[in-house]
Amino acid sequence: MSESDGSNAVELALAMGFALAGVCGARESEHRVEFDRWLAQGKHGSMGYLERHADLRADPRRVLAGARSILLVADQYARRGERDPDLPSAHGRIARYARGRDYHRVMKRRLHALADALRPRYPGAEFRAFVDTAPILEREHAARAGLGWIGKHTLLIHPARGSWLLLGGILSTADLRPSDPPRPFPDHCGTCTRCIDACPTHAITPYSVDASRCIAYLTIERRAPIDPEFFPAIGPLIFGCDICQEVCPHNSGRSDTFDAGEPAPEYAPRRDSFDLLEVLGWTPDDHRDAVRGTALGRARPDMLKRNAAIAAGNALRGRDIPALRARLEQLTRDEGEPDLVKDACRMVLDRVRASR
Ligand code: SF4
Ligand code: SF4
Repeated sequence: MSESDGSNAVELALAMGFALAGVCGARESEHRVEFDRWLAQGKHGSMGYLERHADLRADPRRVLAGARSILLVADQYARRGERDPDLPSAHGRIARYARGRDYHRVMKRRLHALADALRPRYPGAEFRAFVDTAPILEREHAARAGLGWIGKHTLLIHPARGSWLLLGGILSTADLRPSDPPRPFPDHCGTCTRCIDACPTHAITPYSVDASRCIAYLTIERRAPIDPEFFPAIGPLIFGCDICQEVCPHNSGRSDTFDAGEPAPEYAPRRDSFDLLEVLGWTPDDHRDAVRGTALGRARPDMLKRNAAIAAGNALRGRDIPALRARLEQLTRDEGEPDLVKDACRMVLDRVRASR
């Protein structure tokens, strides 16, 4: 395949609906030392797979033998400058990326189609699509491929589109690099510290996030009880946290001078929150129906109930909501509920009583 035939891998990716695409060489991470230090400090929390796969993650050629290049793509899931709707009383908020269709499925389908389109052009080459499914440092490679820069909150930011982006890609033994690759974007964070100042758990130091303190980790990845130290900071958040992105100036204000892009239609929000009383009363079938087709399925049912109990406790500290308090009390006595839920309800009620 020649680079001048107008159908290179990046153009194909953009034609398939990805918001951004770029290619970089498959090479060792430049941040292995920092990553190892981060792991040694326990900042990955209970995500043991990050430690187990550290060697693979550090070099994509260990994930796919003979890999020569990585095609990185991004889907945009929210509109820059779009204000998050106000949260109704006693509701739990879910992160923006989980409000529409599950990005894993959406992106995988397009990536597989893209790989199928590339195969005949590179006979004998291997193509491996990934969306959170392989130990690949997507953000670092995406920055090298010219999709944006990595902000102080460690997320990828495109200068026009902002950071409401989901990343995926294709690792290949073919050399997909164009003859005239785009230059990586410079860091536009400058002296800004908004994300660091706004983070409710003080998880961010410039260009590093202590995942063990991050609400996204606590509510989605952590399967054990959450330390009550974090309860107030979690506020109404029951699945993920967008605070560091909401405050970023690169996600606010649209300009007539650049194309800020539009979210892909698949990510049109179905809902932005759940009634806490409803979540605390879910049966397994209710849970299945509520999360079907979205990324919310990443958190187990008992984790979502635990999170809803914490958010309910925060709602009750503002004012008494008898039905919500009664549901928490009932859950502490429900033998059918997992310990994770019962223990969270007990801790929450203790704190509510102590605050009165
Ligand atoms: S997602 Fe929330 S808790 Fe995590 S670093 Fe950003 S602001 Fe902090
Ligand atoms: S809030 Fe400021 S420091 Fe943080 S990522 Fe955005 S521009 Fe960078």
